[in-house]
Amino acid sequence: MVTAGQAYVAEVFEKVKRANPHEVEFLQAVEEVFDSLAPVFDAYPNYIAENLLERLVEPERIISFRVPWLDDKGQVQVNRGYRVQYSSAIGPYKGGLRFHPSVTQSIIKFLGFEQIFKNSLTGLPIGGGKGGSNFDPKGKSDAEIMRFCQSFMTELQKHIGPSLDVPAGDIGVGGREIGYLFGQYKRLNGYENGVLTGKGLAYGGSLTRKEATGYGVVYFMEQMLEAKGDSLADKTAIVSGSGNVAIYAIEKLQEKGAKVVACSDSSGYIYHENGLDLAAIKQIKEVERGRIKAYLDHHPDAVFYPREEGRIWDLKADLAFPCATQNELEERDAKTLIQNGLIAIAEGANMPSTLEATKAFQKAGVLFGPAKAANAGGVAVSALEMSQNSMRLSWSFDEVDEKLYAIMKGIHQSASQAAEDFGHSGDLVVGANIAGFLKVAEAMSQQGLI
Ligand code: GLU
Repeated sequence: MVTAGQAYVAEVFEKVKRANPHEVEFLQAVEEVFDSLAPVFDAYPNYIAENLLERLVEPERIISFRVPWLDDKGQVQVNRGYRVQYSSAIGPYKGGLRFHPSVTQSIIKFLGFEQIFKNSLTGLPIGGGKGGSNFDPKGKSDAEIMRFCQSFMTELQKHIGPSLDVPAGDIGVGGREIGYLFGQYKRLNGYENGVLTGKGLAYGGSLTRKEATGYGVVYFMEQMLEAKGDSLADKTAIVSGSGNVAIYAIEKLQEKGAKVVACSDSSGYIYHENGLDLAAIKQIKEVERGRIKAYLDHHPDAVFYPREEGRIWDLKADLAFPCATQNELEERDAKTLIQNGLIAIAEGANMPSTLEATKAFQKAGVLFGPAKAANAGGVAVSALEMSQNSMRLSWSFDEVDEKLYAIMKGIHQSASQAAEDFGHSGDLVVGANIAGFLKVAEAMSQQGLI
């Protein structure tokens, strides 16, 4: 029998599909959340009467704009910029900016939609938003990056503010880009340090922000293992990616006694049987901004597999941390990992597993930490950066790290509890979606039809 909740969720999903027919990634993110929510609407029929789901899935505002800039040859280039201000039900719009050639409205909407639930799960008062551009930072000079960021911010600054919308980094936007974006915002509006997070420590950034997403995903994994009486010590792990999330996940895993044998970039992956040398990876990626293959110059005994010649998920490991990008882990990868004895997976990237891969893991009893719970550490520390900016003080590294740990533990608890309360004990996908949704739904309901 179809319940009222199931019928309502299915009806809204049909409408979303009709209204956004080509937005594949957006529809994927929506489907994953909607799949979890029917029991909530059965328990709270007033939310059906208020048509909360159809209201929530429609962004409050989408801004799309032209970003013209001059390259080093003096030629005019044009990119498209976006900011999706998705939901301000529980606080100012909050979420990163992604600069990558794959960026489309669908990508930014999927990320913004996920961000609503992720931000709610942190327990901090931040709404959901996301932005970015199809600009490709790869191979660009510092001067080109600066001119692009200045042009991007000249438009974006009309729409953001410390109590309105607070962007941060994501793929392709790190400390350097935030610096240029902040400088341009300040030039146009005056000093307002709460308008961006992920800032440099010299001008209002928070200690531990750079490490937060990577550390957080490991803290989340630790919680999942501890709930089963297990630990990180002596586990073998693979971490995809080699950006900010991957690097600090590797750092924390090594600190906790796990052995990380592989990481990757878009050109391929490296496998180092004795365990990765993180100092070499930091040098290549953070200092030289090079390709991961250069790891072989430091360690000739490691192996590099170009993208066409193999997948990082073919390796044998106890733990997997997809920390690169959306849909990087498909059903076939999940099956290989399961066959190779995987115990648990925690998602550092946003939506790295396809829906089919997620289902395969869950069916096989692999512990699964979904992105919106497991990678919430980054945005959580961004919210702590906002607090420090408002108070005009800065906390120590350990102080922020302790708060981050407590937040990740709290997210694991609330997702586990919600899964149990709604009849899906142990399913953190359902639990994270429901726990994230409940707070937003209550806030929307109390604020009336807006
Ligand atoms: N881009 C990160 C995320 O996906 C961080 C966002 C932020 O710090 O606002 O959550």
